[in-house]
Amino acid sequence: MKIILTLWSKNSHVMKTRYFLLFFLSIGLLHAQEKETPKGHYNYSKFRQITNLLPTPNEYRTASGAPGHAYYQNRANYKIKVELIDDEKQPKITGSETITYINNSPDQLDYIWIQLDQNKRAPNSFTDQVNDDGDNVMMRPGKFISQYTNSGYKGGYHITKVSDINGNKLPYTINFTMMRVDLPKPIKAGGQYNLKIDWWYDINNYPEDWGRSGYEHFDKDGNNLYIIAQFYPRVAVYNDVYGWQNLQFIKTGEFTLEFGNFDVEITTPADHVLDGTGVLLNRKEMMGKKQYGRYLKAKKSFDKPVMIITKEEAVANEKTKSTKKKTWKFRAENVRDFAFASSRKFLYDMMNVRLATKTALAVSLYPKEGEPLWSKQSTRAVAQTLKNYSKHLFDYPYHKAISVNAYRQGMEYPMICWNYGRPNENGEYTDRTRNGVIKVIVHEVGHNWFPMVINSDERQWTWMDEGFNTFMELLTEQDYEKQLGFPLNSRGLPKSVVPFMKGDQNKIHPIMINSDLMHNRSMTAYSKPTAGFYMLREVIMGRKLFDYALKTYANRWKFKHPTPADFFRTMEDASAMDLDWFWRGWFFTTRVNNMGIKNVEKFYLTDKPTERMRNMAKRYGMKVEDFPPYVSLVTENSKDFTPDMKSKKSFLSRAKTLKNFLDKNYSQKEQKNLKTPKYFYRISFEQKGELILPILIKITYKDGSTEMKKYPAKVWRYNDKEVSKLLPSNKEIVKIELDPDNLTADINQSNNTWPKQARETEFKKLKKQIQK
Ligand SMILES: [Zn+2]
Repeated sequence: MKIILTLWSKNSHVMKTRYFLLFFLSIGLLHAQEKETPKGHYNYSKFRQITNLLPTPNEYRTASGAPGHAYYQNRANYKIKVELIDDEKQPKITGSETITYINNSPDQLDYIWIQLDQNKRAPNSFTDQVNDDGDNVMMRPGKFISQYTNSGYKGGYHITKVSDINGNKLPYTINFTMMRVDLPKPIKAGGQYNLKIDWWYDINNYPEDWGRSGYEHFDKDGNNLYIIAQFYPRVAVYNDVYGWQNLQFIKTGEFTLEFGNFDVEITTPADHVLDGTGVLLNRKEMMGKKQYGRYLKAKKSFDKPVMIITKEEAVANEKTKSTKKKTWKFRAENVRDFAFASSRKFLYDMMNVRLATKTALAVSLYPKEGEPLWSKQSTRAVAQTLKNYSKHLFDYPYHKAISVNAYRQGMEYPMICWNYGRPNENGEYTDRTRNGVIKVIVHEVGHNWFPMVINSDERQWTWMDEGFNTFMELLTEQDYEKQLGFPLNSRGLPKSVVPFMKGDQNKIHPIMINSDLMHNRSMTAYSKPTAGFYMLREVIMGRKLFDYALKTYANRWKFKHPTPADFFRTMEDASAMDLDWFWRGWFFTTRVNNMGIKNVEKFYLTDKPTERMRNMAKRYGMKVEDFPPYVSLVTENSKDFTPDMKSKKSFLSRAKTLKNFLDKNYSQKEQKNLKTPKYFYRISFEQKGELILPILIKITYKDGSTEMKKYPAKVWRYNDKEVSKLLPSNKEIVKIELDPDNLTADINQSNNTWPKQARETEFKKLKKQIQK
């Protein structure tokens, strides 16, 4: 339906302003909309604050999202000695450690909980008991044999001693992956306790059981490549939010860890090459003169990696099979965990990276099977990640970041991570493999920020590390593409989550769900949060406000334990934007965005009085020429929608207001020539889904020019189903598209274009082409 608006006045033939129009439109048309607003609407407003969804702020965590004046976290320092027994039949780790547990909480602690993550692999583990076996058992022969035939690999910790510092035994109770150590007397607030634990376990063959660590065996040269993590009993977190962390390590919910200093000695066969978390204190002794010289050279190389161990040297090393041993000594400060990689097979390269306030080494370890791909891409990708993440968050706080090539792995630890991707046996690889290698390295190195330093609780909230990190990965890759000269096809753009969001609602969880409970981990904890952050940055907040707020969050919570509320609150606190509606819609619900253009009405101006106006003149005993400026609304077929003024008084009063406005702002001559804007469009938007988001439109004018327009989400605050905007324009509009780039994850784009025919015609054209 096209409506024609007639504007007529006694003195001048045409007068128009946007105020003028709104003034009269508000009388008749918009009033009808308010009536449609459901009763009790405000109680259910999608814009009400989310105070009921967040914990009450307190002295530990403030309402601003910053740590409070009484914020604390406990600490665990470790002195660890382990031996990696590179046994052909069954490799093992044996170890002993002294944990200094520091109780910074205001509470007295009667016992300490220790995490025994290796027990996930123990016979009849909690994981075995609670997993739905489905077809998985048959797909993993190794797992099947060990679980059901009482032979093969038997994982799990063998705890051989738990004692105090003097060797006095302490009672302990193991509950699957958790061990409670009962203390002779409680640790007082501010006190500390030294605890000694001895253990051993059989290392798992990780390509067989899909562990986050273990060994890979290479049949051709008879060597193992070890990626070792969760190899020591680790103190659980005690904090103001959950008390002692009490969720078992089942499968997907990763780790909840305290910061501490680590002194670690690792004994390996003498011909192994090893690197891990922390500063390698005896590097010179471990490397030998030649390699150490190359290491010094690498520290001066800021533009390309320097080979420390070449392919030829690694191949020669594969054959030595030394029976002697050597011990690697590490010191790591302020880390939440420790991991290392060791093998005879490693090639080794390094370069230095200049950050704003410091430098850090980018390092790679890979077997010859990773070549020729890894020497080209790995260390460079590490360097790029250090630069980009530092720019957006804070400078990488450690002295090195290592990328280790490991079969089908993508797993992160402080300063070291495991990454997949190898060429085929002939050294050939596809673009997809190459891109996969770059992407996984950016991602896993990126985890050094989330959660290694911004130390969120992974056992509870997967999105707090994976979501932020996948988003930062996306920004880094978008930057890196320019250097690489090829696209990396990043995940997490809003349009990429549409198929997931409009899928079976029985299989969709909101982002705010615990790690071990969600159906679709990749979408729920990685892609959807990333798309949300992308939307916040590009659509809702804008880059300047978003970047500042995210940086504020990162800096407030580095080397601390943030929770979701701390993030939600900080983003609002640092930007002066109320985002509660967004947190509710995107993070706490599975609502979808199905926005559409319902209707576009076009008005234009004419000086011909309408029939209704003439009637009104008659009614009030006036000539039509005596009227002050006035508006009439008529449709194309002359149906008259001119608002009916119920009394002469109200008509004259409104007309006078308008005349005063015009006289105040425009001279008589200007009023005569007041011909802009030429057109008015009233666009009605509808939301057929439940999700609130800003309205983005692209306008195409008759002259071919285009313009983007945005209306903030709060435009929906009185009616979240339908809203109209009036658009004055000097040029005729031929097309309006709602969110043409799909930055708002709209699940149905068929109602996003006006006029509808344009889309249908395009469709028909396409159909014809296909039929040809
Ligand atoms: Zn990740």
